Order: sequence, then C-alpha cells, then structure tokens
Amino acid sequence: MSSTTLKIEIEKATSSKIGQVDFDNLAFGSVFTDHMLVCDFKDGAWQTPKIKPYGPLSLDPSAKVFHYGQAIFEGLKAYKSNDDSIWLFRPDENHTRMNKSCVRLQMPEIPKEIFFDGLETLLKMDKDWIKKGEGNSLYIRPFMIATESCVSASPSLEYKFMIICSPAQSYFKKGMSGVKVLFAEKYSRAANGGVGFAKCAGNYAGQFYPTHLANQEGYHQVLWTDASTHENLEEAGVMNVFFRVGDKLITAPTSDRILDGVTRKSVIEIAKDEGLDVEVRPVTVHEIIAAAKEGSLKEMFGSGTAAVISPISGFGYKGAHYDLPEIENKFADLFKKRISDIQCNKAKDKFGWRHKVSV
Ligand SMILES: *Cc1c(COP(=O)(O)O)cnc(C)c1O
Repeated sequence: MSSTTLKIEIEKATSSKIGQVDFDNLAFGSVFTDHMLVCDFKDGAWQTPKIKPYGPLSLDPSAKVFHYGQAIFEGLKAYKSNDDSIWLFRPDENHTRMNKSCVRLQMPEIPKEIFFDGLETLLKMDKDWIKKGEGNSLYIRPFMIATESCVSASPSLEYKFMIICSPAQSYFKKGMSGVKVLFAEKYSRAANGGVGFAKCAGNYAGQFYPTHLANQEGYHQVLWTDASTHENLEEAGVMNVFFRVGDKLITAPTSDRILDGVTRKSVIEIAKDEGLDVEVRPVTVHEIIAAAKEGSLKEMFGSGTAAVISPISGFGYKGAHYDLPEIENKFADLFKKRISDIQCNKAKDKFGWRHKVSV
C-alpha cells in the first residue's frame, strides 16, 4: 500500500468544513470529510482516479444503478494513535471482499493500486478529520455504482468507484444496555445461491420492512434465520452474531447467505488465542431457546466494523421474550478491548492486522 506510480488527479477543496463539525456529538455516518475519491470505469478500463471536494454527483436518470441495483459497498475504519500515526485494520480483507461482491454483481473488479493508493492519498488529505482518543475513528465507505445511461436489463458498461469518509464515535455508546433482536420466522435476508455474502445495496433495502415490523414489537434488529427452514440462526442486518453457551463460543459458518465479516474473523482468532472453546457450526433456534431456559445462555453479541462488538440484551421468538443475564467478565468486553486496542495501536499486533498509513 506504499505509494506506487499510480497517477491520481487532485483538486483540493478551497476551504475546510472541519470548523463547523461538533466532534463530540456525531450522528453515525452523517458528516463527511472535505474530499472524496472518484474513479470511473469506461471503455473497458479504469480511468485516472480523482480526489475532489466532497459533493453531489450528477447522474443520468437512466443510470443503471437506479433501475437494476448494481451497487456494492464496503466499510472500514482509520484510527489515529497518540503519536499521530494513522492505522487501518485489515484493509486487504475489505479490498478482497469488495472484489467478491463485484464478481457476484457482474461489476469490474477494483485494482489494488486504485483502492489502496486512492484511499491512502485521501486519508492524507483529510487526516485532521481522524481524531485521537477512545472510540474515535474515521469510518471509510468505498462503494461502486453502475452509471451507464440505459434502461435495458443487462450489466452496465460504465461504473463509478468512490470512497467517502465520515468521522465516527463509538457506534453504541458506553452504558447502552445492548440491543434486542427478534428471531426471523417469516422473512429472509438471503437465500441459497443468492447475494447474501456480498455487500450489495439491495440486501439492506430488503431488510428495512421486516426490521420496521420488529421495531413495532420493541426489537431493534432482526436476527436472520436460514431462508429454507428458519431453524438456524445466521446473522443480523449489519453484523455477524456470536452465542456464549456456558463458556463455549458459538457462531454460524459463513456461506453464500452470510457476510464474511472481518470483525467476526478477528473475534474467532482472538478467542482461539485466549484458549477459549470456539465452535463454528450451524446454531439452531431450538438450542438457543433451550439454553436460555436452562440458564446456560450467558451472552449473545454482534460483531461488525461500526461498533466492533454490540452486546445483545435479549431476544424474541414466537411471541415470547427472553432476557440475557447480567454477568461479570463478559466475552463481549474482552473481544471489544482486545480488538480496539490493536486497532488504535495500543496493544501489540501479534496477528499483523494493523496497517500503517504513511502521512
Ligand atoms: C458489513 C456486515 C457485517 C460485518 O462485517 P465487518 O467486516 O465485520 O464489518 C456483517 N453482516 C453484514 C450483513 C454486513 O453487511
């Protein structure tokens, strides 16, 4: 990811918006930095990437993204440590996964130099937006859309790859009691052979209505089950899910229905490093309810870039509600601390996950 000979055209913002931002009261994903990366794909090739002032796009109303949903994204974060160095967490995982999404949505893959040199140059220009201190980071949103002006239902011949960045604080603030999830009985997020493993826009749109129904019943999120039997617990809307039964940590295996989360992978590796008993296997609704009833279900939590770890405080299924116990020495806290400390350069990086951005 060190600088190569890739040419990037740069147009600097005439003034910075940073003075108008209240960094102590940021709503997640609503404020963006001064610049953005844009790289067009046309005539069968990626064009010269450009960094320009953050601002609206102008697209033809017939651009294919509006009609057939060729749209994918990624999410990762940059952290600033106390010595002002800037770090990314396992960014090549995001690049690889983005290209898997590209392949599944019949979009052109993004060359490594464009992704990394583009991102690194952008971060250098907007580095003042990355704040030090616990819970602070810069959320990075790479994405790609189909821009060809044509409403025929076939893959676009033109695309825009972009990166935008948004300063973030801890997604779920301290002292928050955790999220309540509703196990899905009717609706599904993903199907066998479908696009569940890809970070494509439609996967999220399809969840809004069932999630709205869950909200009306007092649940924050839906915990998705497999589409064919609704008997296996798979993942939540934007996070993978872990269960602690006794002192055993269990999570579902990734598949074409489940997003292969970078945080999930990291939790599994840290759990093994801690000597914990980890099982990656299908988790049934039945066993989790049985464990909740007999008191051996000690924790459930989600994993994802935005919050790292999100404790789950209870779940609903078929009209019944189950609360998780309040316990000491939570696995959730252990994983959150170990991952966050690596991310912001507070702990030794024994796994080689941290990537330094040269500024
Ligand atoms: C992004 C996402 C996750 C979490 O992935 P991370 O790489 O850990 O951020 C999990 N599930 C879904 C559906 C997602 O979109």
